[in-house]
Amino acid sequence: MISRVCLIKSVISALPLYYLSFFKAPKCVYDELKKIQRNFLWGWSIEDRKIAWVRWENICKPKEEGGLGIREIRNFNIALLAKWKWRLGMEDKGLWREVLESKYGSWRNLNEIVIPKSTSRWWKDIHKVCRSSTQGAWFENCKDRVIGEGDKVLFWEDLWVGDAPLSSRFHRLYLISESKQSPIARVGHWVDNTWVWELVWRRQRLVWEQVMEAQLYQLINSCTFRKGNLDTWSWKETAEGAYTVRSAYMKLMGSSEGESDKVFTELWSIRVIPKAQLFGWRLLLDKLPIKDKLSVKGFQLQHSLCEFCLDCEESASHLFFSCAMSQKVWKMCDSWIGVSSVHHNQARIHFQHFHMSSLNTRQNTMWKGMWLAIVGEIWRHRNEVIFKQKKVDTEEIFSLAQVNA
Ligand SMILES: [Zn+2]
Repeated sequence: MISRVCLIKSVISALPLYYLSFFKAPKCVYDELKKIQRNFLWGWSIEDRKIAWVRWENICKPKEEGGLGIREIRNFNIALLAKWKWRLGMEDKGLWREVLESKYGSWRNLNEIVIPKSTSRWWKDIHKVCRSSTQGAWFENCKDRVIGEGDKVLFWEDLWVGDAPLSSRFHRLYLISESKQSPIARVGHWVDNTWVWELVWRRQRLVWEQVMEAQLYQLINSCTFRKGNLDTWSWKETAEGAYTVRSAYMKLMGSSEGESDKVFTELWSIRVIPKAQLFGWRLLLDKLPIKDKLSVKGFQLQHSLCEFCLDCEESASHLFFSCAMSQKVWKMCDSWIGVSSVHHNQARIHFQHFHMSSLNTRQNTMWKGMWLAIVGEIWRHRNEVIFKQKKVDTEEIFSLAQVNA
C-alpha cells in the first residue's frame, strides 16, 4: 500500500497540475480523479472490489493530523487558481497583467459579488474560486492590506480603515467628492514627514455634512502612512506574508498550525520502513481488516474468535493488546529492557505509554520503532495462523520483532 501512496503523490496528483493551474476542472473531473486515486490506493480492480477503510476526506488530511497528505484535487485547484488574483494585486509589471486588466479590469472586479454574465468563463472561474460556498470570501479574509504611501489603495472604494469602505460609511460625502476613484496618495501630500489631507469637494458642505466630515477626518487621521514604501498585501497564512499554494490549500482544507495530533506526529517521525508506519497508522485509526470490523461490513466469516486464543471476539484492542498471547509478547519486551509495566488495551494509549523514562524524546521516538515492529509481527503471525495454519509462537513473534526493529 505504501508504494501506492507514493505513486499517487508523485504521479496521479501531479499529472493534472499544469491544467489545474489555469482552469477550473468540472465536478465530474474531480470525482473521476478522486475515484481513480481511491481505487488505486486500496488496490481495487474490476474483479476485486476491496474496502476503502478510511474516508477519502481523512486520507487527504495532513499526515500530522491523521491523514496521508494526499492532495484533495478540488481544493488544490482552487488554491492554484486563486494565485492569479494574488499576482494581479501584487505584481506591477508584465504583459499578461496588462492583457488581463484591459480585458477584465483590475483584481477589484473579482471582489464584486456579481460580475457581468458576458464575462469570459475563465474570469468567472477565478471570481468563483476566491469565494467558496463553505468558507465565503476566504481569499479576502486571509489577506491584509499593508499601506505604504497609499499608491494603490483607493481612498473611497477600498477597505483600508474601519470595517467598511469609506464610500459606504460616508456615502453622502462620497457623492460630493471630486476624487471618487483616486488612490490615497492623490488625496493628500507630504509636508516634510507629515501627511496632510487634501480632500476636494464639488460644493460647499451643508452643516450636517460638516459634522460627517469631521468624523471622516477623525477616522482617517488614526492611520499612519509609511513614506517611501509602496502599498502591498500580506497573506495571513504564512509567516513571511506571501501567498503560497500550500498555505491556501491548507486553509481550504480547514487545517492550520496547532491542529496536529501528537500521536501521528510521533508516528511519522519514527525512522522505520514506511510500510511499518503505514501499518501503525491504520492500527492507530482502528482501520485494519479485523474480524469485528469485517462482520460489520457484511463479510461471512467461519467464526469471529481471535485466532491466537480462540476464546474472545477478535478486535484490534484484543488481538494486539489484551489477548493472553499478545500480552506474553509485551511482557517479553518488558523483561528484555528490564522494566515491569501495565499495558493499556487501546492502541493509541498503548503507543503513547510505550516509552522509557531513562531516554530522551529523540531516543524514545526511536524506541517506538520496537512498538511498530511488535504490532507488525503480531499481525503477520495472525495471518499465518489463519491462512497457513501455523501454530501460535509468541517467542517467534518477539524475536522477529527484535530483528525488524
Ligand atoms: Zn486472543
